[in-house]
Amino acid sequence: MNNEELRVGVFVCDCGHNIAGTIDTADVAAFSEGLPDVVAVVRNRYTCADPGQNEIKKAIAEHQLNRVVVVACTPKIHEPTFRNCVAEAGLNPYLMEMANVREHCSWVHFQDKEAATAKAKDLVRSAVERARKLEAQEEKSFPVTDAALVIGGGVAGIQAALELADGGHQVYLVEKQPTIGGNMAALDKTYPTMDCSI
Ligand code: SF4
Repeated sequence: MNNEELRVGVFVCDCGHNIAGTIDTADVAAFSEGLPDVVAVVRNRYTCADPGQNEIKKAIAEHQLNRVVVVACTPKIHEPTFRNCVAEAGLNPYLMEMANVREHCSWVHFQDKEAATAKAKDLVRSAVERARKLEAQEEKSFPVTDAALVIGGGVAGIQAALELADGGHQVYLVEKQPTIGGNMAALDKTYPTMDCSI
């Protein structure tokens, strides 16, 4: 990791009432301002919407942010959204971190707003710490050899090899014995049909 000065931006999403109906997002935003290396905190009603994403891009430019923490929902939904967003603002997309305070706080602790807000602060503190340790990543593509190696020519290996071959892949089946079939090949008949084992 180089010795660049860390400049973290935290973007706290209300998600309408989905988050702000339970969590005191103004309090979470104020708390975020005191976290290490945090130089900008913005609260949005809907961070994934265009105005919310524009706020992120604007803050990256205005505050020379080099780490972004989005305090919102599960990364399963919007991690690609926010990675694209920061990339469009010129930041490496892997310098963005999310804190899921919707599914992990407001939805599951809606009967205890105080505890939900306290937990949200813990998640934000953790996310900022993770963000401070993030490093830029480069995406690379490599050609994949369309062939499979199956080790062991017992019944399972034979079946796997056949299914791979049926799927159109080149298959190399390796067996240390002179014949394939494994334990099954040593049997004379199999119960209940008494068929030949192979
Ligand atoms: S970013 Fe997530 S939490 Fe925020 S408005 Fe969009 S869906 Fe809701």
